[in-house]
Amino acid sequence: MTPKTIQAVIDHFTRLPGIGPRQATRIAFFLLKLSPSEVTSLSRSLIALKEKIKICPVCFAGFEVTGDEKTCTICANQKRIKTSICVVERESDIEPIEKTGIFKGTYHVVGESVDILERATPATITHLLNRITYIQKQLPPERQKTIEVILALNATVEGDAFALYIERLLRPLSVTITRLGKGLASGAELEYADQQTLIHALENRK
Ligand SMILES: [Zn+2]
Repeated sequence: MTPKTIQAVIDHFTRLPGIGPRQATRIAFFLLKLSPSEVTSLSRSLIALKEKIKICPVCFAGFEVTGDEKTCTICANQKRIKTSICVVERESDIEPIEKTGIFKGTYHVVGESVDILERATPATITHLLNRITYIQKQLPPERQKTIEVILALNATVEGDAFALYIERLLRPLSVTITRLGKGLASGAELEYADQQTLIHALENRK
């Protein structure tokens, strides 16, 4: 019988993405072997995660609050092209795209496709539609089509279904919709794509 305290830790880890009960058990017993200071440092960093990281109200990416900033650094950056929105499933998908250095627009984190397809239109997507409408209102009519939404979703079956779902919702807004996943190998998750592949996929989006 696993002691209650260890079981409580295992239960927490089992809820993490990609972690099953066996891995959760391994992690819990690994933590048990750490020194008290290492465990304290780990728990402090988890508390700081909730205290210092806020979700950007524009793009839904997490950002570190150091002063009175209201949005993430990308949304706050005046040089970023606000009419170019790259839609990603996970926040961790932003970094590899940023590393290519060729994307000058902004992002929108919509959440995992698998979750989304089961439910009604999620808040992140409703927010994306509102965000586009807001930008459109500030543009003269002839420039409204210059808004580009790049669907940078995983090149998986779920990613494809998700892209179709978002495209259908975006169509009435008459924006230019491009897809990045086509340049990625089938089954590829964006997060793990190498830089050259990503640059190619970004440059050849259609
Ligand atoms: Zn943002």
